[in-house]
Amino acid sequence: SPEKNPILKVSKLVKRFGGFHALDGLSFHVVPGEILGLVGPNGSGKTTAINVISGLYAPDGGEIVFDGASAGGVASHKLVHRGINRTFQVPKPFLSLTVRENIQVALAYGGATGAPSIAELLEDFRLKEVADRPAADLNSAQQKMLDLTRALATRPRLLLLDELAAGLNPAELDWIAGRIKALAATGMAIIVVEHLMGFIEQITDRVIVLNAGKEIFEGTLATAVREPQVIEVFLGG
Ligand code: ADP
Repeated sequence: SPEKNPILKVSKLVKRFGGFHALDGLSFHVVPGEILGLVGPNGSGKTTAINVISGLYAPDGGEIVFDGASAGGVASHKLVHRGINRTFQVPKPFLSLTVRENIQVALAYGGATGAPSIAELLEDFRLKEVADRPAADLNSAQQKMLDLTRALATRPRLLLLDELAAGLNPAELDWIAGRIKALAATGMAIIVVEHLMGFIEQITDRVIVLNAGKEIFEGTLATAVREPQVIEVFLGG
């Protein structure tokens, strides 16, 4: 919605690995309450974009502005306190700690006032039955939900979801789509990287299509899939 100010603005973002440009001048924005999809063929820079925005890597060029202040090259833990948090493709919980303890650590670390309670998070993300089991006992879908609750415990205003839906069954996908929409309805800005196009179509307001570290399309997924240059990179990639 154009009447809202972006909470995140990325301009001409560059990230190199050696001589290779994983991001090559990427620009986009997200407004509060919006669910933006980052799509594109393998290797197009989607995860790198999340890694740079969340402070895992410093950019080699361009600008990231979050909530009116520069956020490029700021360490992850500082960005967590400023309101950016993320999930990982492969979650890394503290395996010997229980689910509850993992969330407790995130709550202590995030230190956000108004953060959801542990009971609420366990209930909302179907972790109540496993709350007192070590994280090592969880299946991969439950590990993803734990990773999400740990991010939410820090009360992000920008949430970055990297392949959260991968490995979930259709019923779980429907359910998590509803949860993500409910989070956006509270005003949270959400960026999703996902390969499942049906899921992307179900939850996103808008997508950015990446190819070789650049945006090649911006708009709804329904429009994107009719664009010749989008079809070409997917078929060619
Ligand atoms: P996507 O998420 O779209 O599949 P990635 O962002 O993971 O793409 O990767 C983009 C490109 O950058 C790929 O060619 C990948 O091999 C490379 N890349 C990503 N991370 C690293 C890294 N840490 N070191 C070296 N190359 C990387």
